[in-house]
Amino acid sequence: MDCLFCKIANGEIPSKKVYEDSYILAFHDINPEAKVHVLVIPKEHIPSCDFVNAGNSFNVSYIFEKIPHIAKEAGITNGYRVITNCGEDACQSVKHLHFHIIGGEKLPEHIR
Ligand code: 5GP
Ligand code: ZN
Repeated sequence: MDCLFCKIANGEIPSKKVYEDSYILAFHDINPEAKVHVLVIPKEHIPSCDFVNAGNSFNVSYIFEKIPHIAKEAGITNGYRVITNCGEDACQSVKHLHFHIIGGEKLPEHIR
């Protein structure tokens, strides 16, 4: 499948990894919007929030279970923002479910 984040998940395309296990991968965003900007993806290809269902929602709860650890590993100590863009109006550019973890500095009240 021609999916950028599937290729990052299987190592075909390199990334700066923060955390990895059998189900998920966290890596630094190539174009950071704050001092720390990490992306967390399920290894399973789920195109967006619109495609989360009873059969794959384990990935979402599992990612949220791991987010505090990933944020800490990335050096975040004083809070962070978690964002997922879904579909056209949200400007989702990569069609593989991902959660942005943004922090490492005081963020504006609204970002993106
Ligand atoms: P979206 O706009 O879909 O919510 O977020 C996609 C994110 O993926 C963007 O923040 C973009 O900078 C990041 N990104 C795009 N291509 C690559 C890549 O090849 N490597 C990494 N590490 N991040 C990427
Ligand atoms: Zn994919």
